[in-house]
Amino acid sequence: LTEAIKSSGGVPQKADSLVLIGPPGSGKGTQAARLAARCGFDHINTGAILRQEIAAGSSLGQRVEPYVRAGELIPTELLSGVMAARLRSASHAFLLDGYPRNLAQASALDQTLEELRQTIAGVIALELDDQTAAQRLEGRLVCAAEGHTYHRSLCPPSAEGVCDIDGSQLVARQDDRDLGALRSRLELFRAQTVPVIERYCESGLLMRVEATGSPERVAERLEYTLGASLSRNQPRARISRGSDRGKPGARAQSGTRRWAA
Ligand SMILES: [Zn+2]
Repeated sequence: LTEAIKSSGGVPQKADSLVLIGPPGSGKGTQAARLAARCGFDHINTGAILRQEIAAGSSLGQRVEPYVRAGELIPTELLSGVMAARLRSASHAFLLDGYPRNLAQASALDQTLEELRQTIAGVIALELDDQTAAQRLEGRLVCAAEGHTYHRSLCPPSAEGVCDIDGSQLVARQDDRDLGALRSRLELFRAQTVPVIERYCESGLLMRVEATGSPERVAERLEYTLGASLSRNQPRARISRGSDRGKPGARAQSGTRRWAA
């Protein structure tokens, strides 16, 4: 992938755009930020967009706040309008993080892409079991400004309580502190988002990546999977880190249904 990006002047083309999906605790936000920074994607972080609107007290923020607070899905027509506007403003390839989360949103995304005459190169699904997800979420810290995520023991910031990137205060999210809310988020993911993953699997766009282990290990698997999968479709798209690292748990296109109840 990085080779393809270099050959196009350092910026990935719109057709290289990706969607990243993962259950709560899978490290999706961390991986998205890292991949975007390494490969030059326009990182579209749905959670951060919504948090900014809520913090600003905009009319949109006021409408979405009750859903975010309760850990519920935001109504499709409300969210799809926000996302369509953001996608329209992307000048090069985007990395979509936190959207779509249900089939209605996936259909809305299809429609937006069609209107923009744009395609996506693939959909990455991070896979994690519920127990590991719960352990990770218990120590999770989020920066108040941009939603950069840390973990007290697994991924601590350089200075305690302060975001490495923008220096803002780190807080535990209310819904990470509450075990009941966590359970309902995992159930919501299984019921609403897993069907989206299955749909992308059927359309041949899906790449599955195991999300256990350190963030570095997951990033390595992710780039391996991305390079291997995209190079099948686009001969010049290949990550530069070499294929001699072996297969670090990459299972692109496998038919396993990790989250099936
Ligand atoms: Zn931050």
